[in-house]
Amino acid sequence: MTWGMTSMGKGTAVIGLPRAMLYHRWGTLWQTFFQELGVEAVVSGPTDREILERGTALAIDEACLSLKIYLGHVAALIGKCDYILVPRVSNFGRHRSMCTRFEALPDLVRNIFRSAGQEFLSYDLDVQMKKEEEAAFLELARRLDRPAKEGKRAYRLGKKAELAGHKAAVQAQEQLYKKEGLKILIAAHSYVMEDPYMGGTVVRCLKEAGVIPLRADLVDREGALKRSRELSPTCKWELSREILGGIVQHRDDVDGMILLSAFPCGPDAMVNELITRRLRDIPLLNLVLDSQSGTAGVETRLESFIDIIRFKEGVL
Ligand code: SF4
Repeated sequence: MTWGMTSMGKGTAVIGLPRAMLYHRWGTLWQTFFQELGVEAVVSGPTDREILERGTALAIDEACLSLKIYLGHVAALIGKCDYILVPRVSNFGRHRSMCTRFEALPDLVRNIFRSAGQEFLSYDLDVQMKKEEEAAFLELARRLDRPAKEGKRAYRLGKKAELAGHKAAVQAQEQLYKKEGLKILIAAHSYVMEDPYMGGTVVRCLKEAGVIPLRADLVDREGALKRSRELSPTCKWELSREILGGIVQHRDDVDGMILLSAFPCGPDAMVNELITRRLRDIPLLNLVLDSQSGTAGVETRLESFIDIIRFKEGVL
């Protein structure tokens, strides 16, 4: 596997960023990094029916909906850029793992698109193997023919922008907890929440019903990792732990909770079962989306859930 290991030549490469999965965590970091290096980055458009159908056709049936959508975004970028960025993300340290799909992603994408004549660019984040994020970005800069000093500066500016963006989103959400009205906390991965076909549908339905939707993933990440132990001292998935920490922090501030996942998600199947067993004093809705989930079915289930909460609170 070469992944374009040779230098790409200064000023020549256009990098494609699929608007799915970890783009919703690191999109700001990636865009700022490439911009600071003077490299053009293009992003696929928001998920639409065509992207969903293309991704579903490319994936094996066992792939989760998030991965299917990701493949649709990669397909949308084929031929529109010199390289498509597909990082391998294994872990952030001990007991801080990512779902195995993020480890397999570069190999999987390369294999699926092997006949497309498209080059891919990757980096490896595996803290347990001493492959830290900053070193990975310095290697990316080197491959783009940029000096280490420029790479370090671009990475640090990108990281700063990413953290500032997340902090602003967390602070904006904290204001929503103070508002009057029925509040429902949605526990889902950021890439599920940010996708118009997944979290977007749920958020729209809740808002139309006059409910204030809140996100368990929008929390101070370090604090959430510590708090997550209250619900599970052994959960090893980093993103699930952040969500668990968000639930611990805000479960008393909301009227109900939706566990939203992309079918079939191994980590969510375990973690959501755990949440259901531990949180018996709050109305819970388990919503699993697949590529066939129409909005009508989702809307009906949400409406019933909201009615149950309102009835319970004596509003109906
Ligand atoms: S955590 Fe679940 S939704 Fe996310 S990539 Fe893994 S299987 Fe898919």
